[in-house]
Amino acid sequence: MTNPLYDRLIGDRRDSDAVLLHLPEGGTVTYAQMAARADRIAGMLRARGLAKGDRLAMQCPKSPEALALYLACLQSGVIFLPLNTAYTPDEIAYFVGDATPKILVTDPAAEAALTPVAQKAGAALLTLDGDQHGSFAQAVAASEPVTSATPCTTDDLTAFLYTSGTTGRSKGAMLTQGNLLSNAEVLTETWRFTAQDVLIHSLPIFHAHGLFVACNVLMLAGGSMIWLPGFTVAGVLAALPGATTMMGVPTFYTRLLDSPDFDRARAGHMRLFTSGSAPLLAETHTAFRARTGHAILERYGMTETGMNTSNPYDGERRAGTVGFPLKGTEIRIMGQEGQELPCGETGMIEVRGPNVFKGYWQMPEKTAEELRDNGFFITGDLGLIDADGYVTIVGREKDLIISGGYNIYPKEVEQVLDDQPGVKESAVIGVPHPDFGEGVVAVLVPETGTTPDLDAIAAAVAGKLANFKRPKAYFVLDSLPRNTMGKVQKNVLRAEYAEQFDTAPGVK
Ligand code: ATP
Ligand code: MG
Repeated sequence: MTNPLYDRLIGDRRDSDAVLLHLPEGGTVTYAQMAARADRIAGMLRARGLAKGDRLAMQCPKSPEALALYLACLQSGVIFLPLNTAYTPDEIAYFVGDATPKILVTDPAAEAALTPVAQKAGAALLTLDGDQHGSFAQAVAASEPVTSATPCTTDDLTAFLYTSGTTGRSKGAMLTQGNLLSNAEVLTETWRFTAQDVLIHSLPIFHAHGLFVACNVLMLAGGSMIWLPGFTVAGVLAALPGATTMMGVPTFYTRLLDSPDFDRARAGHMRLFTSGSAPLLAETHTAFRARTGHAILERYGMTETGMNTSNPYDGERRAGTVGFPLKGTEIRIMGQEGQELPCGETGMIEVRGPNVFKGYWQMPEKTAEELRDNGFFITGDLGLIDADGYVTIVGREKDLIISGGYNIYPKEVEQVLDDQPGVKESAVIGVPHPDFGEGVVAVLVPETGTTPDLDAIAAAVAGKLANFKRPKAYFVLDSLPRNTMGKVQKNVLRAEYAEQFDTAPGVK
């Protein structure tokens, strides 16, 4: 019996001296060393009575040991539940209350606040301090390593990953070994990852992007990762000479472009830059290409499905699109009446394939609403497929504005606003309006050191957009509220501006 995901990621390389992690402070961790670390943790899990199907939650800073903990869970058939390091104890209380893990591993700084939370949920609390200290390390040191893997199949659950909570309360997506393995295989092939690849890993590992896309793909290919604790421009600049590839969210790339030190001389040798988790502005794509010679490869995915689409490795990486469905994944665009729409028309994106999750943990109704009997998952995203087969994400259904009976896609208005002089970026939202149902509101972020001329902007917008699409009020902010994955939190903006709408400048 085998344990397919564990075997393919590391079990088959238990004796390999190839480097898995390059640590920024110096030193490396080989595949064999990582497998041995995971063995020791697997021994601790067994000693603590965790068996296949039990859950373990982790809210820790990124470290080699945190990766070993993920691999030890795979090895043991224990369901891994990584949690955003930004979550407060109240938020953690919700997740551990929902998923009832037997162990919660956390940072010593959070120990006092999380002790009552863990007690209430019946979870043992262990602290991980660096790689060698804390009660987690003590428990590991006191246990006999396990050198074999618990037999599993591709149908076994392997992770609960909570969605980012961009549109509401986070939901626990139940993912199987098969979901993760099939996605890692197709991405490795699509993006041509090999054992020669060295990935700049500056993403967090509590999210699908950093854990399942970055780590799983690199390990499946047998490559190595420059294991940065987080994203900084300086960290990436220092890592570039030894790297071949980088995966990032759009804000990483805009911040790199803000640095004059990031140029073709430093980045030209790279094989691939990929972007996802949030829309990459066409303007960032163009600027990046001009600066480095590289067309960023944009792809589209979500917690529930892993990756769904990718721009091509060879062939045109079309700015503003997320490329083609991955091999084995089907995408269809559905209209309001449940009919499939022809190419070029905007509707709800649905996805089917081996990457699609098994449902939301303890949310059978929500699962039934979003996961159709025929296997299609209703993503909540709106988009279209053009005549060449490229998929474009137009926005989220929950962000669609319906004003006076008209559908308004915020992205269309944002694109016009972003083109106005002095506007760095914008977010367009709908807030309750007594006459129209919803009123269009624009939130602008000016270029540093400029004050936007709202009258001139409103006049320019009037020349480009039909009246019903034009913002009825404008607000100016220094920056847009974003979560840790760089996603604009429109629910925060809606809550903020619903109240202020009546007193805002603009044409009501
Ligand atoms: P929640 O489901 O809790 O509201 P979330 O949808 O933000 O949160 P994730 O699963 O982390 O949680 O994010 C997936 C979403 O991110 C997609 O549904 C899509 O809206 C957005 N997304 C991902 N990649 C892209 C991309 N390349 N372009 C535009 N949007 C993207
Ligand atoms: Mg979502």
